[in-house]
Amino acid sequence: MIIPYGRHHIDEEDIQAVVSVLRSGSLTQGPFVSAFEKSIADYVGAKYAVAVSSATAALHLAAIAAGVRSNTTLITSPITFVASANAGFYAGGNVAFADIDENDVNMSAKSLKTALANNPNTKAIVPVHYAGLPCKDMPEIKSLADSVGAKVIEDAAHALGAVYESGKLVGCCENSTMTVFSLHPVKSIAAGEGGVITTNDEKIFHQLNRLRSHGINKRSEELSSIENGFTKDIPNPWYFEMQELGFHYRITDIQCALAKSQLQKLPKFLSHRRLLAEIYDKNLKGIDCLKPAQNTGRNLSSHHIYPVRIDFASLRISRASFMKKLSEKEIITQVHYIPVVLHPYYRQKGFELSAYPAAEKFYDEALSLPLFFDLTFADQARVIDTIKGILFK
Ligand SMILES: *Cc1c(COP(=O)(O)O)cnc(C)c1O
Repeated sequence: MIIPYGRHHIDEEDIQAVVSVLRSGSLTQGPFVSAFEKSIADYVGAKYAVAVSSATAALHLAAIAAGVRSNTTLITSPITFVASANAGFYAGGNVAFADIDENDVNMSAKSLKTALANNPNTKAIVPVHYAGLPCKDMPEIKSLADSVGAKVIEDAAHALGAVYESGKLVGCCENSTMTVFSLHPVKSIAAGEGGVITTNDEKIFHQLNRLRSHGINKRSEELSSIENGFTKDIPNPWYFEMQELGFHYRITDIQCALAKSQLQKLPKFLSHRRLLAEIYDKNLKGIDCLKPAQNTGRNLSSHHIYPVRIDFASLRISRASFMKKLSEKEIITQVHYIPVVLHPYYRQKGFELSAYPAAEKFYDEALSLPLFFDLTFADQARVIDTIKGILFK
């Protein structure tokens, strides 16, 4: 049996939840979307949640709501999925990067300070809770953002269910304006495709709602034309306004019913993932050339992936042949991530990996081991034994 690096878990309850939407008569723009939004907002402790078609769409809308436009900048980490950075370009702005802290792979406030000095017109700062471990510099990132008039957007695609040191859940926006989650099957909970933005800011909440649906406003209290919107003080029933250029980034009721059903299982998903991470920690301990990429915060992280750092340079094996040997034993590993600045699109814009030494070093050594809810202890033991076998041959 092939062991993938990650996989979703669907049970009979999830299937019934989807079937019941199909029988309900609602496919999209119905009650399941708002029911899911309410349950995720309640879970993370935010006032509002807006569900959209993907976390990529969510990041795009969040960047616009943060004020990113031409001649302004979005700053994120180089060790993330390309979507975190692309959001800045989608919104018409520039993109810059702040290097990671080599100890936890999250954006460091120290490098953010330098990046802000080089990009005075920054509107959005996007820390990424890498592998599900909340960025420990959040309070400092928030105060740096405040000092330049930028907004913090947390990319929490990995971090649904993760906890800050304060004890609050990621998504409550205690040190940010918006937090973005992904509902892609490889993430904490699955909707097929989907994303969520949480916020405590009512104005931004209404703006995000407009932006996901063409920029259309249907709320009579926010119409800009009284003359067209009302007949003798009574709102015209047909009337709505497109007030800004929005998108079609809606999510369906089918996806939200699945996501809501999955959310109920999140505590169970999280505790099994943590247990697997702790077993890796324990069994890989004492190997000189292999270290967990994050060795703190097992009690805080949502353990989206289990990244390790392997000192391939001092071993006689390359990462490519190490991965190949594992896959010959039906064990799939992956690298998270190819630094965003290394992609040709970014290189053509003049970005260079050497400007981010901690990210550069991390990329040389990174490998994510299999970690998912259905990974059995026996299969995990096989992963561990196979790795030791290759390293100590
Ligand atoms: C998966 C991911 C995204 C994009 O999520 P989608 O829902 O697939 O659009 C964004 N940022 C990070 C860090 C991710 O891992």
